[in-house]
Amino acid sequence: MATFWPDDYQKITETCPYNPTHKVTPAKFAMHLVSCEKKSKKILVKCPYNFYHRIDPALLDAHLAECASFKKDGWKS
Ligand SMILES: [Zn+2]
Ligand SMILES: [Zn+2]
Repeated sequence: MATFWPDDYQKITETCPYNPTHKVTPAKFAMHLVSCEKKSKKILVKCPYNFYHRIDPALLDAHLAECASFKKDGWKS
């Protein structure tokens, strides 16, 4: 699950974790997440490693293991 933004990230879109039909530019992703979080009935857990990660509780363990390995290599800021 690569979530690094490439240099041309303005051209790409992130998929909303609350609704996969939402495609959002990275610049708007944080705001979109917050508003979708309020509107959605879906309960997702915030990743402790990355603000932009919202994880299905059933998949949390697997995600954390994967995300921790990214964390070790260092997130790009
Ligand atoms: Zn959304
Ligand atoms: Zn994560």
